[in-house]
Amino acid sequence: QKGASALEVTDVSHAYGAKKALAGVSFFIPAGRFTVLLGLNGAGKTTLFSLISRLYDTQDGSIRIFGRDIRRDPSEALRRLGIVFQARTLDLDLSIAQNLTYHAALHGFGRREAMARIIMLLDTVGLADRLHDKAKNLSGGQMRRVEIVRALLHRPSLLLLDEATVGLDVQARADILATIRALVRDDGIGVLWATHLIDEVMEDDDVVILDGGRVLASGAVGDVVRAAG
Ligand code: ATP
Repeated sequence: QKGASALEVTDVSHAYGAKKALAGVSFFIPAGRFTVLLGLNGAGKTTLFSLISRLYDTQDGSIRIFGRDIRRDPSEALRRLGIVFQARTLDLDLSIAQNLTYHAALHGFGRREAMARIIMLLDTVGLADRLHDKAKNLSGGQMRRVEIVRALLHRPSLLLLDEATVGLDVQARADILATIRALVRDDGIGVLWATHLIDEVMEDDDVVILDGGRVLASGAVGDVVRAAG
């Protein structure tokens, strides 16, 4: 699936009452690429994620995930999607296992299959030994990694992360970025990584620069920098 269009956003606009949050946003992200959605606070990143995950209905324009229109074919489109929201979303009083098995059940996994996959994924983020710890006993970076595991449970081929490293220390940020970049490299998953931190962009990435609800530039970082130069 490398090179296939993981996400295609075409002429998407959205307003909250009179406040325009997105105006004619178009871009696409290929499978097998790490794409950074770069924008300051208020640029419209969270609004875009809410539309892609269908928390809000798209008012104008269209969004396709691996060619499937999220309005016309929502269940198939959303099956392909994993998402890590900006807000913390673990239930702090439940164990890691409980937080994750609940979601695995929602995705139709049987108990044994769910546990095997949970342990495998927790292992890849260095948390297999924390399975029965309560979520509240984890650090911020560890919680984020559990949320990433949860987003990956159902084997999505497009992963969205909204400000996933906010509030984390330098080491935790670097660890999470490395984990996600490895997924892109090894599994060919398409990633849209929303951030306001330009130092999270690397030379080989793709970038979509969002400002005031509009796309200023998009494409491979080298091309965008040359065009701006
Ligand atoms: P942040 O990282 O701070 O969430 P963002 O880039 O994700 O910023 P959005 O949250 O999408 O930006 O906001 C885009 C614009 O829409 C902003 O001007 C914001 O004030 C406005 N906005 C967002 N949500 C609402 C809402 N529920 N009602 C009214 N205006 C909103």
